[in-house]
Formats: sequence, C-alpha cells, structure tokens
Amino acid sequence: MSESQADICVIGAGAAGLAAAVFAGEAASSHPQTIVLLDGAKTFGTKILVSGGGRCNVTHDEVSPTDFFGNRRIIKNVLAALSVKDTITWFESMGVNLKREETGKLFPITDKSRTVLNALVDRCHRFGVTIRPNHRVHRVERTSGIIQRFRIHHTHGTLVANRLILATGGRSLPKSGSDGSGYELARRLGHQVTPTVPALVPLVLDDRMFHKTLSGLSQEVELTTVVNGKTIDQRTGSLLWTHFGISGPVVMDTSRFWTLAKEQGETAHLHGNFLPGLTTEQVREWFMNQAQEHPRRSLVKTLSLRLPERFAEAILTSADCDGHTASGQLPRNNRERLIVTLTKFLFPIKQDRGWNYAEVTAGGVPLEEINYQTMESKLVPGLYLVGEILDCDGRIGGFNFQWAWATGLLAGRTAARSRLYPKQNEA
Ligand SMILES: Cc1cc2nc3c(=O)[nH]c(=O)nc-3n(C[C@H](O)[C@H](O)[C@H](O)COP(=O)(O)OP(=O)(O)OC[C@H]3O[C@@H](n4cnc5c(N)ncnc54)[C@H](O)[C@@H]3O)c2cc1C
Repeated sequence: MSESQADICVIGAGAAGLAAAVFAGEAASSHPQTIVLLDGAKTFGTKILVSGGGRCNVTHDEVSPTDFFGNRRIIKNVLAALSVKDTITWFESMGVNLKREETGKLFPITDKSRTVLNALVDRCHRFGVTIRPNHRVHRVERTSGIIQRFRIHHTHGTLVANRLILATGGRSLPKSGSDGSGYELARRLGHQVTPTVPALVPLVLDDRMFHKTLSGLSQEVELTTVVNGKTIDQRTGSLLWTHFGISGPVVMDTSRFWTLAKEQGETAHLHGNFLPGLTTEQVREWFMNQAQEHPRRSLVKTLSLRLPERFAEAILTSADCDGHTASGQLPRNNRERLIVTLTKFLFPIKQDRGWNYAEVTAGGVPLEEINYQTMESKLVPGLYLVGEILDCDGRIGGFNFQWAWATGLLAGRTAARSRLYPKQNEA
C-alpha cells in the first residue's frame, strides 16, 4: 500500500470528472499542478461509450433550466458558465466536430461515442493529468493540521490531495462503476443526500395489458402524471411499446415523477391521451362526425384514420368494443367508454425498470449546499461536487452531459486557481 500526493484529486472518470480534469489541467498550465483522476472501474468512461445508442448525444442546440429538474435558479447560474456555443467550440478544440440532428440533439460527426471519450482522455494526457483506473475510493478523510487536505483511501493505498473533486455519478447503470458509493463519501464529508430514484427509465406494465402485442410500435402520446389527485406533469412525445411495458422519450422523461412519488409513498397515476392535442370533447366530436359521415365503416378502420392499426385493434379490445362493429352502430355507452379509453387511458404501472435500465438518477447532494459559481462545497472548503452526484437531472436529449461539462468546467478551473485553505477558514 502506497501513499502519494497530488494538488488536485478527481474521483470518477466519467463525463463530469474528465471535464473537470481537463479544465483544471488547462487552468493550471501556467503554474503546473499534479492532477490525479481515480476511477474504480477497470475500464472507465462506459457511460459515455453507451450513451446515445453508442453515438453520444453530447449536448442539445438549445439548453435552458426548464430542461432540468432541481433548483432551477441554481441550475440557470451553473449552465451560464458554459453555453452550447462554447461547448461546441470546446469539443472542436479537442478535434471533435458536432452535428445537429432534426430533434436538436448534437452528436459527433463520426457517430461514435468513442471519439468523445478519446478526445477527453487525450486532452487529460496533454495536460499531464494522471488517470488511474481500477482505483476505487472507499473512504475520504479531512487531514488534521493547519492546511485543509484530503486523505483518499483507494484500492491500492492512499492519496493526499489539497483539493478534491467528487465526480462519482449516481446509481444508474451500476455495472459501469457508478454504484452510488459516491453518495456515502459525500455524506461522510458532511453533505446531505436527498432520496435517489431512477430517472429516464422505462416503465413495466401489468402483464395482463396489451403492450406485448404492440412491441416495437411507436406513437405520439400526451402523458399526464397525477399525484395524490393533482396533475404534476404533462408532456407529449413518442411512446414505444415493448415486451415489458412502455419506453421511448416521453415515457423516459415522465418516469422521474412516477419513481419520486412512489419513493415518497404517494399515489401516482399515469394517464395517456393517444390523440394528443385533442380534448375528450374534441375526440367525441370527431368520432361522431365520422360515424355520421361513414356509418358503415368499422370501428377499427375509423380509429386507424388517426392511429396505427395495430394499436386501434388493441385499444378497442381494451375498451371492450368489437373492432368490426360499424361506427354508426356503436351504442352510446360503448362510445363513451372508448373515448375515455383513448384520451384518459390509465397505464397499469407495476414498477420502473430499475437502475440497470435508468439513464440517470433523480436526487443527490442538494444544490443549495454548493457554491454555484465554483461548484465548491459550502460545508467543506477545497471540496467540489460535479455531475450526476448532485440533485439535478435533465430530460432526454443531451442535457445531462451539458450539466456534466458545465459543472466540470466550474470546479476544474476554480480548483486549479484556488489557494490552499487554512483550517480556521472553514465555513
Ligand atoms: C444508457 C445511457 C445512455 C445515456 N445517454 C446519454 C446521452 O446520449 N446524452 C446525455 O446527455 N446523457 C446520457 N446519459 C446520461 C449520462 O451518461 C450521465 O448523466 C453522465 O454520464 C453523468 O456523468 P458523471 O461523470 O456525473 O457520472 P458517471 O458517468 O456515472 O461517472 C462516474 C464515474 O465515477 C466512478 N466512481 C463511482 N464511484 C466511485 C468510487 N467510489 N471510487 C472511484 N470511482 C468511482 C465510476 O466508475 C464512473 O466512471 C446516458 C446514460 C445511460 C446510462
């Protein structure tokens, strides 16, 4: 077991930790400092590699605080540190050119996330940052003495660092190395951690539902989350039916409200309107017009005018209507049941799909405990927290990486420029 020294130690070589190390290295280039990046995984950067279906959705062409959940006043200030334009320029400076897709998502023109990871690692090496994979940190202590330092206990010994950047991520995809152990490190250093739940996660439906028959089908849906009788979120987008339940961007974005409510012991319901943009009344009017103009057209053919045929068949069965019935022959009661099923469908959610399938973590270290101009802890001088470990989660579309880059920039630059802290200056 060895003991080594560093000016700056970053724990976690994911997106936020690598960004922090790069920005620290750059800021320290005029007055060289030892920067060491420790990661518990044998091969780090897994999440960058698997992100965006292997293409890494680096950011989005429009980023605003409303794309995130958490304290939006603080999030706004953090995001202001790195505009999307600056992010694009920063990546260009590392040899990664980005392209914009129709949805506004930005990807490397190579369509390979490996390009992004390699660029960050190369830049770390250029600035002399030492990256040590397979160095899992299990304990961090503040040293005794006049100057505040950190003694970091890892798999192969200890490292004493003047400043510490905690970039251990959340709990999503634990096999990548982000198993939530960073929360305990933060807690031991005096921070709080709000309850953590899977976000951007698919939802599992009751087996008796018709989802299996539609597996692979996508359609536009408006989802409304109602918690304890109150609507807390409403959004429209693409829903993907799968063999286990529902996925797709609108479901992923919605999932955090359901998982949070469940964690808090509240009753959450998810309703779907399969004719987004139309109210129940407007759907009734449309259906009645169709039934009047084409009374002999079957129900399934009528619904298929606006919905995928496979879905029309499934929803008719679910509403207890025979798809072959002529629309003009549908009894009033059945019509009303069908219209409510189409516009206020109650999804029978059993559970979320869990950490192995969640893209991010909702909850974490409260942003109020951080100085948003520097990402430095308000409780422990010399400690910085960046990325997913913080209580901030973005919607799907490159926002979570933008958060990682922006927080990494603030912490890296400040840590490299800051002076050592005498203990009596503690907050
Ligand atoms: C399948 C998937 C696809 C995604 N796609 C996108 C996308 O396209 N765009 C987007 O914006 N976001 C995407 N995300 C989310 C994004 O990957 C994360 O928000 C982001 O990686 C968080 O970065 P981070 O550096 O904070 O944490 P992480 O990337 O989780 O990195 C944390 C690192 O810390 C290390 N670590 C943890 N604990 C310890 C310890 N005790 N000691 C030492 N090391 C430790 C881990 O090994 C890991 O390498 C995706 C996520 C997943 C799972």
